[in-house]
Amino acid sequence: MKKEKVLIIGSGPAGYTAAIYASRAGLNPILISGLEPGGQLTITTEVENFPGFENPIQGPWLMEQMKKQASAYGTRIINDYVISVDFQKDIHKIKTEKEMFLSHTVIIATGAKAKWLNIEGEEKFRGYGVSACATCDGFFYKNKDVAVVGGGNTAAEEALFLSNLCKKVILIHRRDKLRAEKILQKRLFEKKNIKFIWNSTVEKILGKNDEKIISSIIVSNVQNKSEQEIKLDGFFVAIGHSPTTDIFLNKLEMDSEGYIFTDADSTKTSIEGVFAAGDVTDKVYRQAVTAAGMGCMGALEAESFLTKKKII
Ligand SMILES: Cc1cc2nc3c(=O)[nH]c(=O)nc-3n(C[C@H](O)[C@H](O)[C@H](O)COP(=O)(O)OP(=O)(O)OC[C@H]3O[C@@H](n4cnc5c(N)ncnc54)[C@H](O)[C@@H]3O)c2cc1C
Repeated sequence: MKKEKVLIIGSGPAGYTAAIYASRAGLNPILISGLEPGGQLTITTEVENFPGFENPIQGPWLMEQMKKQASAYGTRIINDYVISVDFQKDIHKIKTEKEMFLSHTVIIATGAKAKWLNIEGEEKFRGYGVSACATCDGFFYKNKDVAVVGGGNTAAEEALFLSNLCKKVILIHRRDKLRAEKILQKRLFEKKNIKFIWNSTVEKILGKNDEKIISSIIVSNVQNKSEQEIKLDGFFVAIGHSPTTDIFLNKLEMDSEGYIFTDADSTKTSIEGVFAAGDVTDKVYRQAVTAAGMGCMGALEAESFLTKKKII
């Protein structure tokens, strides 16, 4: 069976950027797209923070450009998904639903997914008032009223970020205290425009008449079961993310949440020749541009590995 030099798993910004660099380096990479070709940005509308564009661009359009660029330099894009991996010392076996590949290096760029509340209205208004990323969407709510759900570091950071842009931020948590680090809690409590609703869950998200935009949420107190309607412009779910790493379980070192460990300032994983880039390894920044940056690093590190091993 033919041995590939570079095989990339995932077609988000990390995967396509790795593909652009690896193909321009003459490594003739294969990229397996997965079930969500283009990755997370294909489920959003306007992107305003990817460098190079004066006006907002559409997420799916941006990913289509990355795909075209990767193809133009010779990446072989395969519409399939990986079902298992066998990382060996010298060669790695990658099994997709339809085929089997052997490759000297693998770049894992399988991304992550935001956790959602799965309540009424959440899916309907996603991208129309409902978001899981304040850094991405906060700007659309400048001087408006928003709510954030969650009690950990993510929720605290999202609320703090939004408090610098929005008129009012309501932090809703199902317990009577936050899990977030004490320093973040201190900053939250010091902010005059952040209000708290404790011991409460959000039951549903309501929209403005027939318009596809949110108008309010129904919040229920878990102790006395009382309900209240809160009018707002934006609703941020901040209950965490899950990296897409099920197929790598027990094959690579990961943290307790399933994020793949990489060496400091590197995309090198615990297995030689296997690299991880983007949201699959990054629980801090989670941006298209940082994922793309790590994709670039992954390809450069794969190239240097192949050179050292005298494969190229
Ligand atoms: C609604 C929304 C809006 C956002 N807005 C912005 C924004 O405005 N600006 C910004 O910078 N960031 C934004 N983000 C964050 C940004 O989308 C992510 O940080 C970025 O997409 C991460 O890129 P990635 O390449 O690491 O992974 P992803 O984009 O998550 O892509 C993962 C890829 O892996 C593939 N895959 C998974 N499992 C397998 C498998 N078994 N086999 C093969 N392939 C597999 C998937 O099909 C997918 O193609 C937003 C995210 C969301 C959800």
